[in-house]
Amino acid sequence: MPWDLSELSKHQAYLRGHFLLTTGRHSDQFLLMARLTENPQALAGWTKELARRLKGYGARTVVGPALGGIIPAYAVASEWENGRMLFTEKVEGGAMRFKRGFTLAPQEPVVVVEDVVTTGSSVDKVIQAIKEAGGIVVAVGALVDRGHAKPHWDDFGFESLLRLAPGSIPTWDPRECPLCQEGLPLSRPKA
Ligand SMILES: [Zn+2]
Repeated sequence: MPWDLSELSKHQAYLRGHFLLTTGRHSDQFLLMARLTENPQALAGWTKELARRLKGYGARTVVGPALGGIIPAYAVASEWENGRMLFTEKVEGGAMRFKRGFTLAPQEPVVVVEDVVTTGSSVDKVIQAIKEAGGIVVAVGALVDRGHAKPHWDDFGFESLLRLAPGSIPTWDPRECPLCQEGLPLSRPKA
């Protein structure tokens, strides 16, 4: 199975149109990965391969950030015989933490799984939570890499199934948005 935008389109997980992003900027493309994870059989085509690639890093614990990372992380962990899956949640101030009694053993190797990595800043918060809990990140896996640029990620592996060239999904300040100038209606797919 190809891991590409047309596969995401089939599930309405890749949209073309005129979109308002959470940053306030506008775009003509949108990744709505919940529409892929809505179909466990379709998602398995992605997460089986991600699990295979991440297996070699020697971790059994997979950590996914709420909300988007939880389902793919769970699917990856379920592919491994001894897979374990934890999730982090946002706390006041914007950081990520483990809640619900989740713990890591000292120096426990961990892989982080996220649905889409864009700047990497939300994965960085997960990595911080793992460090504070005593674990060691050995790899980060993503279904889609929108062009991360994080030199300090050289400390561990990075695996993604679909790599988009940085900037291939353009965003615009609303005042400079060509779609606004055409008068196209704006939508918020996650709302
Ligand atoms: Zn616009």
